[in-house]
Amino acid sequence: MTCTCIETVNEKLATRNTRLSQAIMFQEANHPGLMLETDQIEKGRGKPKAVSMFLTYCPFCGVKYGEDAA
Ligand SMILES: [Zn+2]
Repeated sequence: MTCTCIETVNEKLATRNTRLSQAIMFQEANHPGLMLETDQIEKGRGKPKAVSMFLTYCPFCGVKYGEDAA
């Protein structure tokens, strides 16, 4: 099990009706990492849609997702 930062932060955010955006991994289902939402810079017809970033490391403690904590 990777760190429990997501659960800890989600518990705190829940008081504000908020939770972190988690990536759903169907193949490597060890640990659903965090998804960093982004904003589209230029909007309008024909503009590429914004992409989301999937974090490899926990932004709170630095542990790599999918690896057992030592
Ligand atoms: Zn963490």
